[in-house]
Amino acid sequence: MEIESMVANSALIKAREGKSGGSKGRSWKWREMFRFSHISQCADLAETIERDYYSLCVKQPIGKKLFQLFCRSRPDLQNYISLQDALVLYTFNCGTCGAAKNASDAALNPFSVCPSYLHKLLGGEPFIQYQESMFFDRFLQWKMLERSPITKQTFRQYRLLGKGGFGEVWACQMRATGMMYACKKLEKTHVKKRKGEAMALNEKEILEGLDSRFVVNLAYAYETKHALCMVLTMMSGGDLRFHIHNIGEPGLDKDRVRFYAAEICCGLIHLHQKSILYRDLKPENILLDDNGHIRISDLGLAVRLSEGKLVRGMVGTLGYMAPEVIGRKHYGMSVDWWGLGCLIYEMTAGQPPYRVKGEHPKAPEMERRIQTEQLEYSDKFSKSAKDICSSLLNTDPKQRLGCQSSGGSEVQAHRFFRKINFRMLEAGLVKPPFKPDPRLVYCSDVQDIDEFSSVKGVILDKTDINFYSKFNTGRVPITWQNEVIETGCFKELNTFGPEGSRSPDLDW
Ligand code: ADP
Ligand code: MG
Ligand code: MG
Repeated sequence: MEIESMVANSALIKAREGKSGGSKGRSWKWREMFRFSHISQCADLAETIERDYYSLCVKQPIGKKLFQLFCRSRPDLQNYISLQDALVLYTFNCGTCGAAKNASDAALNPFSVCPSYLHKLLGGEPFIQYQESMFFDRFLQWKMLERSPITKQTFRQYRLLGKGGFGEVWACQMRATGMMYACKKLEKTHVKKRKGEAMALNEKEILEGLDSRFVVNLAYAYETKHALCMVLTMMSGGDLRFHIHNIGEPGLDKDRVRFYAAEICCGLIHLHQKSILYRDLKPENILLDDNGHIRISDLGLAVRLSEGKLVRGMVGTLGYMAPEVIGRKHYGMSVDWWGLGCLIYEMTAGQPPYRVKGEHPKAPEMERRIQTEQLEYSDKFSKSAKDICSSLLNTDPKQRLGCQSSGGSEVQAHRFFRKINFRMLEAGLVKPPFKPDPRLVYCSDVQDIDEFSSVKGVILDKTDINFYSKFNTGRVPITWQNEVIETGCFKELNTFGPEGSRSPDLDW
């Protein structure tokens, strides 16, 4: 490894351990970066913000915390919050005792309807009173910070992680909180030259509408002079292609295949529930985090399907496209279940389906094989592994596993997954079978990633600027609020000053 690479790697490893900057990787000036505006400066925001109970007090993490603090400060409401906590704990125990294996086993939890009654109650008079309280004022102050402009100064940049179609992906760290992220940059000139505007905006808009532990989160979308940037969950463990092909013997052991397949399955179910078809399943697009959980990434080809509609279009990656895509037919969610079949096959066999590793057949040959050839299963495949692959890789989408009315839960119920407790998995409570080494950087050396060539002769004009402003929406509320809470900044800053009677005695 060259010296340049070693220096870049050790700087990144140090940052991940929280040894850069001040405490836990935060800038020395972090408190200054988080200075609250005076409440009188929040008046505009107070008038324009949507007064929706569910969004303000349930979905937004900081909003939820402040609403709970408000309720705890009120003797008549305290019990509701305690009940809410008890219900969360009960549901959690339901999952861990193993009685209910699927989220749909609601019948086993007699209290499963309670939370909605509670919300109905709290969303009435208490919600109105909350909006008159200093806790809501504080919420507005956090929202002002959330909406403040993003500049280069917001981040520290570390090494290059990878290269995409429109630009590079870099490791970065938020100066104020110390949180690590991956910044996907799309070069403005490249985007324009290759007419990638709609695609870039599509990826950004789909990502900001999602909140799943099995799909990368978008935290910030902003622009610099030369690039559009998406700041995403940092996935330090590298992609599955790297793990299948570049570490030891090709392929992964049974426990890892089953675990990754199960998490991908949950990710697909989440996307499909939101009517999003992913269309680009392949090992490169499945990334590992530092604990060994996976997330689906790269939503550049994803599309939102309107109610019951199908799409057309030869998109995806050669070798992983379903027969109905190759056949130029209309298709729906079925192509993602085909993709899952390809992934389970490749993780198990150590080579992609229909192709020997290193072989690059031309498109027509690949298409012929996918549509007509019988796949071969070596003795690396157990009976259930072979069975799930051949059911997912059924060339007829009507007969394919996952494509019946029960959708993804049919896949989860397959014998291949009998050792997986999906309830626990969905709650993030299953320990991954493999944990990436925190001292390693799981990607190619910096100098082995080709430099991104510059485009000449592209002039950016007014229509471009209009498009950039649609992209440049700044912080994504849920992800940013989680960042502030997870890094401890919320707890340290959200104290209430001694302002007469408005200062409650809060129990942190
Ligand atoms: P493209 O859409 O242009 O293919 P990707 O989103 O796939 O771009 O990103 C290109 C590469 O950058 C990936 O193959 C991966 O190596 C790296 N990368 C992308 N997102 C992340 C992330 N969240 N964490 C770590 N590395 C990432
Ligand atoms: Mg990609
Ligand atoms: Mg892409």
